[in-house]
Amino acid sequence: MFFKKMFPGGTHPHEGVNGKAVNSGNAIRELPAPKRVVIPLSQHIGAPAEALVKKGDTVLMGQKIGEAAGYVSASVHASVSGKVVGIENVETASGAVVPAVVIENDFQDTWTELRPAAHPETLSAKELQEIIREAGIVGLGGATFPTAVKLTPAEGKSIEKLIINGAECEPYLTADHRLMLEKSVEIIDGIHLIMLALDIKEAVIGVEDNKMDAIQALAAACEGVEGITVKALPVMYPQGGEKQLVYACTRRKVPAGGLPIDVGCVVCNVGTVYAVQQAIREGKPLVQRVTTMGGLVNNPGNFLIRIGATIDTLIEACGGLQPDVVKLISGGPMMGNAIAHANIPMTKGTSGVLALGKEAAEKPENPCINCGRCVTACPMQLVPTRLDLLVRNNNLEEAEKGGVMNCMECGACTFACPAKRLLTQSCRTGKKMINARRKAAAAKAAAEAPEK
Ligand code: SF4
Ligand code: SF4
Repeated sequence: MFFKKMFPGGTHPHEGVNGKAVNSGNAIRELPAPKRVVIPLSQHIGAPAEALVKKGDTVLMGQKIGEAAGYVSASVHASVSGKVVGIENVETASGAVVPAVVIENDFQDTWTELRPAAHPETLSAKELQEIIREAGIVGLGGATFPTAVKLTPAEGKSIEKLIINGAECEPYLTADHRLMLEKSVEIIDGIHLIMLALDIKEAVIGVEDNKMDAIQALAAACEGVEGITVKALPVMYPQGGEKQLVYACTRRKVPAGGLPIDVGCVVCNVGTVYAVQQAIREGKPLVQRVTTMGGLVNNPGNFLIRIGATIDTLIEACGGLQPDVVKLISGGPMMGNAIAHANIPMTKGTSGVLALGKEAAEKPENPCINCGRCVTACPMQLVPTRLDLLVRNNNLEEAEKGGVMNCMECGACTFACPAKRLLTQSCRTGKKMINARRKAAAAKAAAEAPEK
């Protein structure tokens, strides 16, 4: 088969039962609100939010319950109305244990006072960014970086193009696909609003061409809207990686170690764009998102969930798990996190929950046979087999020189490896160790610096 490639490397992961082919036809359903929501104060990149409520407080839906604690942080809001029954440490899908506000639902869905912007076109870029910040919006593709920070270029940097990520290249996930089909007009409006917030004139929406219905819906919605184009991209994992997407949509190459802003671009996921539109036009903070439940469940689907509903409520709504499930994953099968149980809250970054069978079970590692498939698959042009050995031998200096910090942890090398080497895991470990060393060195230097 011939595939027109948009970036080096990449792979074609296969799908099992109830993958994209089945689930993309399932319209978004609203997951019934649960009796309790568990809303982590840290569900984004950056400093955890600080609780604004205490046990016994009554809260309204959309009320801010956690204040962003710093520039790179995000506020959190109640996704139901009801009573705060505790602030507890809870386990999240990443395995981290973080404080969370637990709210008992009164099932009234009484909203806090919403303040939609009457005439967003008359607001300044700064005012629009402030609405996005107040709404607690983060990257909903899974990265969870605070959107307002992303839309505020650092000194000396400028943004010319907005790139919208509608690739949804991970197997099984179809939440973005359904959103693009069902909310295409709102997404185009959201793009227009982000362009105002950035004060720019051009946006490109990149969508893999296995979603032609979504491409057509978006193209129809942006007819007559100036500056927004839709680009069909070939199917290739990880087409939705920021660097890969920027190149596919603009032919601009983000330098190694750099960010899209280094080539004048900023990337936002379609779910994020929808959240921005809802915040500006409806005044609604981010308290719900669309997520996919796929794999070995009896009735898979795409669901509008309340942030803080636990995964077991989603599984229950899907009629339960099939008997041969061996692994639960929060996110996609390539970049998601395996979870040991389903009593874990869904957060702003939960793009999907998958129940996978024996094909997803851990296989024993074998020695490398030097086939080079991991090198061919790596979209960052790294040599994963070498990085794996260097990290395992604790040779972090050489791993750093070999570019381990540029690893995007996409999982393509691990997927391609016939010896089942845990290559991505090695790179992740190497990055963590190097970051820890850098942090320790900075702290030591600060401690030894003469006082001023
Ligand atoms: S996980 Fe890292 S090393 Fe492996 S293919 Fe992706 S970018 Fe390359
Ligand atoms: S794909 Fe696996 S076996 Fe092949 S070179 Fe890479 S690490 Fe070795």
